[in-house]
Formats: sequence, structure tokens, C-alpha cells
Amino acid sequence: MDPIFLAQALVRCPSVTPADAGAMDVLQQALEKLGFTVTRLTFGEEPDGPIENLFATIGSGGPHFAFAGHTDVVPEGSGWSVNPFSAGIHDGQLVGRGIADMKGAIAAMVFAAAAHVERGSPGTLSFIITGDEEGPATYGTDRILEWMEERGIRPDMCLVGEPTSVQKLGDCMKIGRRGSLNAWISVLGAQGHVAYPDRADNPIRRLVPALNELQARVLDTGNDWFTASNLEITDLEVGNPATNVIPAVAKARLNIRFNDMHKGPELAAWIEEVIARHAPNADVKIRISGEAFLTEPGVLSALVSAAVEAETGRVPELSTTGGTSDARFIRRLCPVVEFGLPGMSMHKVDEQASVADIEALGRIYDRLLRAVFAG
Ligand SMILES: [Zn+2]
Repeated sequence: MDPIFLAQALVRCPSVTPADAGAMDVLQQALEKLGFTVTRLTFGEEPDGPIENLFATIGSGGPHFAFAGHTDVVPEGSGWSVNPFSAGIHDGQLVGRGIADMKGAIAAMVFAAAAHVERGSPGTLSFIITGDEEGPATYGTDRILEWMEERGIRPDMCLVGEPTSVQKLGDCMKIGRRGSLNAWISVLGAQGHVAYPDRADNPIRRLVPALNELQARVLDTGNDWFTASNLEITDLEVGNPATNVIPAVAKARLNIRFNDMHKGPELAAWIEEVIARHAPNADVKIRISGEAFLTEPGVLSALVSAAVEAETGRVPELSTTGGTSDARFIRRLCPVVEFGLPGMSMHKVDEQASVADIEALGRIYDRLLRAVFAG
């Protein structure tokens, strides 16, 4: 089984979320060829859907190991030196949108699965693959897990193939992720002449102290596995072009990246309380994109580390940095870690991964499966 050929076939499907563009068909065929039972799960409606998802499984009984990932990619953008969906190989680099994040890893997983099937190991191996990770993730992994839970399907452990390596394959894996929350704040006042402030009501006078209080709080100073949580004001908008007018409305937006010492709803309640105290008539909209999670270092991270070290000679750093990932959903089923290709080029122009790294990742996943199913 050639992981490069499969990686190229996947990249040639321009599966920019929510489009699938044939990517799931390519994966389904590859897995069915190995004997997997493949279930296609289509969820959602326009405009964020419909979304193609896939659950595939082979074998029975324990241990039950699952690979997880996504076939969707971010838009290609402009300025590429090659066609972003032609999947050409240039100087040993496979170039194309989604190769690092994370079609290369999916191909490596199928490579490892092929070796697993050939060995005839006992136990169960599954694939949890979504087409909605880069988008709102409403109709993706979360919904596949619901479908699995309804059927009592629960893996013992799971690896997500996100591009966690930084400079070199094997230098880093993720054992957790910070949570993320966005807030949109809109304070209403009354417009008027700046020379007659008594006849107007300036909303900036209430918004600024509220934001000050929010950003003055030290949320925490971090812990063994996480850096400190951080609140960042990401937008301020009054849009007032006149020097002699008090504006009618002032808006702000903020984001909090928080560690496992906080829960999204508690932070949301705090923001609402502070804003309400300074600006009782403000409109506050809060969206929690994901809670923080941590898979405490243990059996799973040790197995992945050992496989990485045996193949690359590098012991991966156990990290919790970066954005959110679908592991935040999977952790409710079983221990989950993330390990994949170097991610320096992900979401960028000329996204690429070396052919050697994709092949080595396949061998790392193979070593991991051998260890999981041997013990
Ligand atoms: Zn990704």
C-alpha cells in the first residue's frame, strides 16, 4: 500500500469545507479494499452543510484503537507557485492544500491499517473521519461520536493525525488543547453634539472601563501542562468619522484562550457580569468554540512517544499549545492524543510535506498499532 499515491489522490479532491469533492469516496475505496466496513454519515444542511463524514471499522473485541482526522481543507488562497490541487512532487516535497493538515496523515493511517490487517491481529481498528473540522465543526466529529454512542461503539484510545510536529517529524505531540471563547459586545448610547454632552450619552465611557476591568484580571498563571490563560481584545469599533459628534454605539470583540483551570460557561458568566455592571444596556453575545482538555500523560502518550522515538530518534515534547482540534470532542469517549506531520506550512500558500516524512509517519503509526495490539 503506497501512502504517497493515496495522499496525492486525496489532495486532488478540492475539499474546501463544506465541500467533499470526492475525498471520502477515495478514502472509502482504500479502506474497503483492506476489508473495512465503511459507513458514510451525512449530516447538516445549507449553508454549513451537508457534510460528508465516515466511520470505518475492522475486527472485533478489544483492544479497540481509533484513528481520527479530517478530509476538509481551508481555502487555497492566492499566490501559489503550483496548482494547489495538482499534488505534484517537487524536490521530494508533496505540495498541495491539505497535505500537512491532514491528508498526508490520513494516507499514513491507511498505510498502517493495511499492515495491521495483513498481520491478522485480534481487536478492533476504526477510523473516525470528518469533512467538517476547518469549518464550524457543527456536523462533524461531534455528530459522528453521537452516532457511535447510540450504538455503544467506544474505542479504548484514539490518535488524531493533526500536524503537531513543528520543525521536524516527531519533535512534538499534543496531549491537550486550550479552550476558546469569543465575545461580541455592543454598548448603546445616544448620539449628539460633542459640545453638548448633557444632551447625548457616550457609550465609549462605559465600554472602555468594562474592557479595562476584563483585561486587568489575571485568569491564572498556568500549571504543569498549560501556559496561562489569556484574554485578548480583538476588535474595537465605533466608526465615527466626525470630530464633533458623540457616537451612538461602541462595539468590541474579545477572545479568551483558556486552560483546564477554567470552564467556558464560567468565563462567559464573568464577562456578562462585568459588562452589565459598567453598561447595563449592553448587548453581549458569547460563543464557546471549545473547552480545554487534557489527556494526562499515561499509557497512550507513552506508546506514541515510543513509536516516534523508535522511528525518528526524537522524543516528542508533550504540548498543549495551538488552536482547538476535534480531540476536544473525542476526549469524552476515551484518552486521545494528537500526532502528525510538521505543520509549518499548514493553512499557508504552498502547503507541503516531504514524501519521506509521510512515509515515516506511516511507519510510526504502524509501530504504534503493533504495540497497541501486542499488549
Ligand atoms: Zn487539521
